[in-house]
Amino acid sequence: MTESWGQFKSFDGKKFNALDADFTREVSRLLGGKDLTTCFQCAKCSAGCPVSDKVNIQIHEVMRMLLFGLKEVLDTDMIWLCTTCYTCQERCPQGIDITDILFGLKNMAFKKGITPSGYTGARQSLYDTGKLYEPTDWERDDLELDPVPELNVADTRKMLDKTKLMKLEEAE
Ligand code: SF4
Ligand code: SF4
Repeated sequence: MTESWGQFKSFDGKKFNALDADFTREVSRLLGGKDLTTCFQCAKCSAGCPVSDKVNIQIHEVMRMLLFGLKEVLDTDMIWLCTTCYTCQERCPQGIDITDILFGLKNMAFKKGITPSGYTGARQSLYDTGKLYEPTDWERDDLELDPVPELNVADTRKMLDKTKLMKLEEAE
């Protein structure tokens, strides 16, 4: 397995700073976070997660870190490698909106500049070219497709400027 992204690799030997109840409260106020503290650690979410063998920390452990107010959760790879398939959310016996919480954690991590380079690179490419990546001619030839039409990058940029997506980068 290739090395997963993220500073937080495991709980082994990890010493945490003081637990931060304010952080738990902050996450509880996020979209989907209202039932966070009802998690009783059954791990049913992790049992159905399709990326459980790709991440250094499982989704029920993410939930546990949130319950303990551990901000190190923003350094875990789970929040970025999640495919947003919603399986965990469907399976949770407590009805916790787990996937929605992960969206909020991504936003928090992004604002702190804790973002995998692949994401910031894709964002820059979208801003510069209107595309997430450059399709190669031979791929399109193989599929007998016409060349990619010219894109109106100005509209894409206007949209991204409105969402302030690129402005966040200046704070990194
Ligand atoms: S399935 Fe729900 S209650 Fe069980 S560990 Fe996951 S979040 Fe907690
Ligand atoms: S939404 Fe994310 S965390 Fe939940 S099961 Fe799917 S991949 Fe795993």
